[in-house]
Amino acid sequence: MTPKENQSPLTGEGPILRQSAPCRWQDVEVMPYKEGDSTQFSRISRQLLSKGEVGLPIELRTFEIKEGGHSTLERHKHIHLVMVLSGSGHALVHDKVHAIGFHDVVHVPAWTWHQFQADNGEDLHFLCIVHSDRDRPTLPMEGDLVGLRVHPEVAEFIRI
Ligand code: MN
Repeated sequence: MTPKENQSPLTGEGPILRQSAPCRWQDVEVMPYKEGDSTQFSRISRQLLSKGEVGLPIELRTFEIKEGGHSTLERHKHIHLVMVLSGSGHALVHDKVHAIGFHDVVHVPAWTWHQFQADNGEDLHFLCIVHSDRDRPTLPMEGDLVGLRVHPEVAEFIRI
């Protein structure tokens, strides 16, 4: 194995990323959720734990949604696998709203509308695995929103 192949994809040095506080890791920066001034999301930050490598091209990220906040209502070709690390809330996946809590796992298929909300009186922290090479999210157009709002519980849930 060459030295390059032996490099860790983890943020920070070496093969272990140590937790420094609950849902915080040594040398891992807490970053804004997305660049820019979009109002499509609120009270959310992210951390990149692993950027992926040739043999395992996935990114390991965590997201923290403060109580009352939400992620962007979006869809895209790439897939999400999510595990709740702490707290609870709800997730829209396609046309249903699901209660989610500690260690629940959520699968968001390709081209599926999704949104996460910390709407249960506490912060919601989750791990989210994505492919390193992925497309940019698509936001709902007016026609998409009409389709989503056909379902009353979705109409009441979504934040845009
Ligand atoms: Mn997404």
